[in-house]
Amino acid sequence: MNHISENIKQIKKNINCDIQLIIVSKNRTLLEIEAAYDSGHKVFAENRVQALLERKEVLPSDIQWHLIGHLQTNKVKLIAPFISMVHSVDSYKIAEELNKYAMLNNRKINCLLQIKIAEEETKFGFHTDEVLDLLESKQLTQLSCIKICGLMGMASNTDKTYKIKDEFQKIKLLFNEIKDKYFKNESNFKELSIGMSNDYKIAIENGSTMIRIGSAIFD
Ligand SMILES: *Cc1c(COP(=O)(O)O)cnc(C)c1O
Repeated sequence: MNHISENIKQIKKNINCDIQLIIVSKNRTLLEIEAAYDSGHKVFAENRVQALLERKEVLPSDIQWHLIGHLQTNKVKLIAPFISMVHSVDSYKIAEELNKYAMLNNRKINCLLQIKIAEEETKFGFHTDEVLDLLESKQLTQLSCIKICGLMGMASNTDKTYKIKDEFQKIKLLFNEIKDKYFKNESNFKELSIGMSNDYKIAIENGSTMIRIGSAIFD
């Protein structure tokens, strides 16, 4: 398990202090996650609600949990009381549901809008024109118990660096456009969640503020 804290140390050394490391603990054992926690890290992410709930139940209560996978409306109430951030808001309907349960729990929920940037047609996420239409409609601004903190994207699963770079540049441009048009005076809108184990260096060169790393830490 020593390699886990060593890997975390290495990654933190590679990144600037204003980039947040989110440790992706999906498919890892409790012992592996505990080893990461013991290195002093407190921010973890899961892609499935059920796994997240099971882990939260048994792991230290000061862990901040992020959700990075598709969320179904009927699962929102389970995470609404505690979730630190949902990176995978991919429809108005899910934003509305998060808002409803945030209100019932008397808190605000931090959200990122998930954008499709990869070449493969992925199942979840907004296309650029869809997200711009939604923002233009001002529907989201009525949801006062969610905070739209920025965008999340996943690049194509490829070793062609130029392609990954191109996709990250596109989401960074979209981020700038949205910030300028719809969140100019709102300090909450500041996060760009891009970069995983294989591409986080490219992501950081292209404006990432949050990297989501699993295998580079645990494998
Ligand atoms: C699994 C996953 C990650 C982490 O992937 P690694 O390649 O293991 O670093 C990041 N983001 C999302 C959305 C994931 O599902």
